[in-house]
Amino acid sequence: MVKTGNIRISSENMMPIIKKWLYSDKDIFLREIVSNASDAITKYKKLAALGETAADEKYRITVSADSKAGTLTVEDNGIGMTGDEVEKYITQIAFSGAADFVEKYEKAGGDGIIGHFGLGFYSAYMVSENIEIFTKSYQEGAPAVHWTSDGESTYTLEECEKEGRGTKVVMHLAPEEKEFLKEPVLRQLLNKYCSFMPYEIYLDPKGTEEDKPVNTPEPLYLKQPKDCTEEEYKTFYRETFHDYQEPLFWIHLNMEYPFNLKGILYFPKVKKQVELERGQVKLYCDRVYIADNIKEVIPEFLMLLNGVLDCPDIPLNVSRSFLQNDKQVQKIAAHITKKVADKLCELYKNDKQRYENCWQDLANFVKFGCIKDDKFYERVKDIIIYKDLAGEYRPIGSFYGEEVTEEDSKNGKEPQPVYYVSDPDSQAQYVKMFKDAGLDAILCDTFIDPHFISYLEYKSPAKVRFLRIDADVAGALKEESGEDKGLEEIFTSALEGKKVTVKTEKLKDADVAAVVNVPEFMRRMSEMNSFYRMGEEEEAVTLVVNSACPAVQALKDAEGENRRAAALQIYYLALLAYRRLKPEELGEFSRNQAQMIEKYLQK
Ligand code: ADP
Repeated sequence: MVKTGNIRISSENMMPIIKKWLYSDKDIFLREIVSNASDAITKYKKLAALGETAADEKYRITVSADSKAGTLTVEDNGIGMTGDEVEKYITQIAFSGAADFVEKYEKAGGDGIIGHFGLGFYSAYMVSENIEIFTKSYQEGAPAVHWTSDGESTYTLEECEKEGRGTKVVMHLAPEEKEFLKEPVLRQLLNKYCSFMPYEIYLDPKGTEEDKPVNTPEPLYLKQPKDCTEEEYKTFYRETFHDYQEPLFWIHLNMEYPFNLKGILYFPKVKKQVELERGQVKLYCDRVYIADNIKEVIPEFLMLLNGVLDCPDIPLNVSRSFLQNDKQVQKIAAHITKKVADKLCELYKNDKQRYENCWQDLANFVKFGCIKDDKFYERVKDIIIYKDLAGEYRPIGSFYGEEVTEEDSKNGKEPQPVYYVSDPDSQAQYVKMFKDAGLDAILCDTFIDPHFISYLEYKSPAKVRFLRIDADVAGALKEESGEDKGLEEIFTSALEGKKVTVKTEKLKDADVAAVVNVPEFMRRMSEMNSFYRMGEEEEAVTLVVNSACPAVQALKDAEGENRRAAALQIYYLALLAYRRLKPEELGEFSRNQAQMIEKYLQK
């Protein structure tokens, strides 16, 4: 007997809406149909475990394409359905489930639901003109049934012949969706969505020994960490991320209480230092792939890592904004962050050498993590290391001086500065002077350091202050105050018209005639301006003239043009140790030099 019926909810208007929203993501239909097949097997296995039916053969799912007929078929040997169940679960629940989904979607404003999770069986209509289901329940004596519907308004249901228990879903693809019949397309989709599903999935099996499942039913991350070998972690990394560089190390997350969270996060080798490279953290829900880099669930800075996370407890068929404020999700994110920090601390404690070797690759990640998340900073602040001038790594805290009391701070006292080198080549002269004077500085040469040191200052203003090595040479290197009005006057008049302030100081190194200083604050401002493209203002520099230098003292005895030319040259040499000369500066410098040489040789 054939039964026909109307689909109770009005589904005519639903599909255009779904198609529009899921336009670029309609391939999720395969995930939905295959996970239904997988669920059906799980249900059967549970009944078998309870002794209600016999546990038997191999459980498997097959996906096969018939390009002549234009059909894509997914078949399982799961629990199957009786006629009544098909009516209830498919005609009613699946269709009303889709209607619920549409309603939630509308509320969430279109792209609100992560991974388009929750659409279910009905999603197959995104690509099909018609769908048939052949199914036979595990229940003894239940006849197999055949259901068919175009998904719009009516369906038919009749008894049929079917060998063996389980369900076969035959999708008659719409003409424009025929790409889903291509083997490489299907393989890629199954890899993306179904890699870790628990039962073997075969694509177009031939029924021979050579048939291999496309998935890994026992993904490594579900094993106990103690049972996994280093080699297995590396292989899993290679196969999952197709990165042939070995990861630095990894964190295996494995907890069941108070929430279920499994996964492995890998620290990749960083390829270049100029920017933060985005990693790939794949989110799964009970082995079903949902999406990559979900910022509502995974703290943003962790997305620099590569990893898989499986959190069945996360409610994914809700809007993104709901998820963002969900306490459970926040706890999960906080837990992941803590685990990452713990791993780094453990490595630092147990294998400092390895930690230092990895630091180049880790530093940006750690610094970015601190800036983004104060709690992360609190956990890792003692293991942030910098190279000193001898090239040795030391924790940043070891460079700080005493904390300035509130009282002192009110009187204008600032914390003892930590000097830093941002470019060892161009700052070589300053580095040498610091070394000669027995002073230290740290190497801050990654693109994130300027932001990070500002962050550190902001976190502990009473203790932390950074000055670039050329920001306060006089303060750092003066022997004693060497104010000399006469010299100041000589230089000021020689440098008339230039944006420079002259100061004299008696420096420890008598060989250096003068150095250029740019106050830290001014330099940071001008860097920020050029970063935001607010036009580059010319930096106001200070020329610190070293009154301890014999060449400088000799200026006092010189006269007129000679004196002016020598002072100018001292200025340019100091400027050259600080930065490149601009074209007009270079012109003046060269002319002046040529004239001096001429005079020198004519003497
Ligand atoms: P969901 O899987 O989220 O419950 P679906 O719309 O995908 O929603 O499916 C509706 C119901 O149809 C399922 O809950 C299940 O009871 C039944 N079903 C779907 N596919 C199968 C299958 N392959 N075998 C047995 N039952 C199925």
